[in-house]
Amino acid sequence: MTTAFSRLIRDVPDFPRPGILFKDITPVLADASGFAEAISAMAEPWRHAGVERVAGIEARGFILGAALARELDAGFVPIRKPGKLPAETFAADYGLEYGSDRLEIHTDAFQPGSRVLVVDDVLATGGTLVAALGLVERLQAQVVGAAVLIELTALQGRARWTAAAPLRATLRY
Ligand code: AMP
Repeated sequence: MTTAFSRLIRDVPDFPRPGILFKDITPVLADASGFAEAISAMAEPWRHAGVERVAGIEARGFILGAALARELDAGFVPIRKPGKLPAETFAADYGLEYGSDRLEIHTDAFQPGSRVLVVDDVLATGGTLVAALGLVERLQAQVVGAAVLIELTALQGRARWTAAAPLRATLRY
């Protein structure tokens, strides 16, 4: 598996707040072969996992998650910031590396037992991914696992992922 695309990830210090080193993936997305490599590397461990739906977390989890869904022949379900989904929703509150927020999912997003892969760009403190996991579980879907492009290991977000299903990161810093 190639991770040559990792050179395209741009570190932006002090964004969106002082002390945060932001991992900017926009240069990866803008590069045709870099984007393809990133999606292929993220998809690799899940190719035979029987993923039926990819649940992508707003906003960068939409970009990676939708591409991953196509790569894995799965459908895509958005997990969104509050007030954006038009039909009935379930909500989960969570803490961020920089602030707090809420995520929502349509109550009819999955059939019970659907095999779901949760996707985001960066695992930092893990609050976002764990909130998304809770929403998917609330719909009685079967969580196949979680895929992130980047894991910031010093923040120990992985310790908060208590699901039996694996959490896989393509790159670790
Ligand atoms: P957390 O809930 O702390 O794991 O934060 C993960 C979410 O916040 C992801 O949706 C990321 O897009 C974003 N995020 C947190 N920290 C960073 C960072 N250092 N660089 C880029 N995105 C980040």
